[in-house]
Amino acid sequence: PPVILPRDQHPISRKHINEHTLKVLYRLRSKGFTAYLVGGGVRDLLLGRRPKDFDVATDATPEQVKRLFRNCFLVGRRFRLAHVRFAGDYVVEVATFRRQPRSEELPDDPSEHFFFTENVFGSPREDAFRRDFTINGLFYNIENFSVVDHVGGLEDLDARRLRVIGDPLVRFTEDPVRMLRALEFGARLGFTLDQGIREAIYLRGPLIAEAAPARIREEVLELFRHAVAGPVFREAQAMGLLSHLLAGYEADEETFALLECLDRRTAEGVPVEEHQVLATLFLSRYRHALQTQGEGSITDALRLANLLLTPLCAYFRIAHGTRSRARDLLIGFYRMMRGRGRRGETRFLRHAGAPQALDFFALWCAATQSHADLLAEWQKAFEKAGAPPADGARQGAA
Ligand code: ATP
Ligand code: MG
Repeated sequence: PPVILPRDQHPISRKHINEHTLKVLYRLRSKGFTAYLVGGGVRDLLLGRRPKDFDVATDATPEQVKRLFRNCFLVGRRFRLAHVRFAGDYVVEVATFRRQPRSEELPDDPSEHFFFTENVFGSPREDAFRRDFTINGLFYNIENFSVVDHVGGLEDLDARRLRVIGDPLVRFTEDPVRMLRALEFGARLGFTLDQGIREAIYLRGPLIAEAAPARIREEVLELFRHAVAGPVFREAQAMGLLSHLLAGYEADEETFALLECLDRRTAEGVPVEEHQVLATLFLSRYRHALQTQGEGSITDALRLANLLLTPLCAYFRIAHGTRSRARDLLIGFYRMMRGRGRRGETRFLRHAGAPQALDFFALWCAATQSHADLLAEWQKAFEKAGAPPADGARQGAA
């Protein structure tokens, strides 16, 4: 039976739950359905953190949910979810309780298992057990404001420990993206990874190369949004996961330092964009390649940037626009490294992407604790040229 914490034994207050989400929970409940707040929202509220979003799970089918709300849209080709839209573009995601299918129900092709798993309706208990980590499997019941724990998540929250629901080897084989999520949550929450997780990542790491690139890309961007890219990349590389994750990519010390500086900025509230991520991942390699090739022309520098960026961009199907913005950052770096007074400098200083390039150069200077004088010279030149500050440019671009 689940552990149930009544209202007076946990800190979750309705004050901390988004009003639209509460409305959805109440309405489902008043129509006789079970309605829970689930996932990261419950975890974060129990930890006294501010949740990024709130997810709702119910025994109502997507069609039944749709009939209850005027502004409800069913989304997802493979797994149907209900999106209830409110003013200000606020969307509450409502999922029907699902379960893990029994092995004899699964399709023959193992690569279809993940999506098949997403599609079988089940009980609340079954829904808890198909989730990834115990701390992500907790429910908040709107009927009596209790917390319902089928999976031992409360104990692990107390112990600040990340534990997989079930056998990590099995759950990571089922969905290798969970290995990356394990490192992500460990870093975000400062939780200890259960020993079983580490062993399973060593054994199953290569499987992540077979996960859908679109899912990896989304989960990797999450690392940057949550300002844990530095520690997670470090750990992923130490555990042999990184190269499988990013199509053979390997990071060096300089890259780790760059990622940590980028994380620091993100934590200070500067949103990070995908082209900055790409440029950051390839800067160290770019710099070394430039050094090896010696003083080349700007055309060579351009070719080199393309050469480095293209394979990963193709693998993740990253838009050409994003790749060329990443390339502009690398070229900007090349120009600034050469020093002032080169041909085309005036045009470069007035280029729309120049403030971001300066910003990127500053990131590298901070990460390597070098070239402070050169950076100061360029900052002066930018001011003289009347370029807008980098922060303004970034907000404009976002
Ligand atoms: P946050 O939104 O703060 O990043 P979260 O825990 O809400 O964290 P989501 O990616 O939004 O994470 O997923 C919502 C919930 O769905 C998770 O808490 C977990 O219960 C479940 N979940 C997500 N991805 C998986 C997965 N790959 N395997 C099993 N369960 C998953
Ligand atoms: Mg979430």
